[in-house]
Amino acid sequence: MDASLFGRFRTATDYVRDWSTWRDLPETRRAFLRWVEGADDLDIEERYAALRGDGIRRRWGQLLLTVSLERGHRSYDLRHEDDADRSTDELTTHDDPLDARHLATEDDDGRYRPLKTAPTLRTGWVFPDLSGEEVVEAIDYFYPATVANWHREREGALDVTHWRETAERQTGIYDVVDELSGEQVEWLAQSCCVDSQCLKRRMWDEEEGAELDVPRGEGAFPCREPCSLVVAAARKWTTLEREEAREYTFTLTPSEKEQVEDLVDAVADGRVGEIREADVYEGANRYRARYLRAKRFDDEGNLSGVPTDDEEAD
Ligand code: SF4
Repeated sequence: MDASLFGRFRTATDYVRDWSTWRDLPETRRAFLRWVEGADDLDIEERYAALRGDGIRRRWGQLLLTVSLERGHRSYDLRHEDDADRSTDELTTHDDPLDARHLATEDDDGRYRPLKTAPTLRTGWVFPDLSGEEVVEAIDYFYPATVANWHREREGALDVTHWRETAERQTGIYDVVDELSGEQVEWLAQSCCVDSQCLKRRMWDEEEGAELDVPRGEGAFPCREPCSLVVAAARKWTTLEREEAREYTFTLTPSEKEQVEDLVDAVADGRVGEIREADVYEGANRYRARYLRAKRFDDEGNLSGVPTDDEEAD
């Protein structure tokens, strides 16, 4: 068979393979798996050449999917994006999508991850050979409902529940969260929902027509309503915001004032663990913080010896 005839035959075979791959899949899975391999952007020859070569890669949050053709069938490799260049031998291998539920529970330091879409997914594992059905199942354990909501958004059918509606339907101990003002809801979204804290793209606002002035994020998948972590945080802030502001007078040097600001920044940005013990030029350095405490805290732990409440001063 000459080369051009062989090429036409292979393209015809690829059309049949494409049709039989997608025909029996539920709509959401089919749309997602086609998106993974750029089926709407690449022509079939280009796409199958890539699938037969190094495969086609897509990122989903911190997940990296690589789809390739193995023995005539699609094979999906799923791993952390930070492990993109590591060989399979260097990683722990898994073949049961259910294992993803366990892998999603703790971060690299063994700390529990209360928010599945926080950018703290652990590294060091791989699912080297999943089917299309299995890879979507595994993703659903890592990032629940993200594929379904992504598809709803593409279809123009994402039902968004805004903050006021969520807050007003809370009961029990969370009943109080509707007390937060619009400005406080801004601070709430700023603290929990930006890309450095959550990989979802926030689509909810204070209410319809009252957009929050906080970046929505760049994530591939949308967030359609305030999650339980945000509602729990809102409860705490609601009670804290009931306190009246007071004036205190503290004595600090200019460098100490800046150090207090550095400490708050380092904790808020999750950088405390990165600051080396020897780096005493960093305000949030442990020895700097201990020096400040030794110098400015009294025996009761009051900054500059100023009590928090008037009664304490008596
Ligand atoms: S409410 Fe905020 S923190 Fe929670 S999932 Fe949505 S974007 Fe993420």
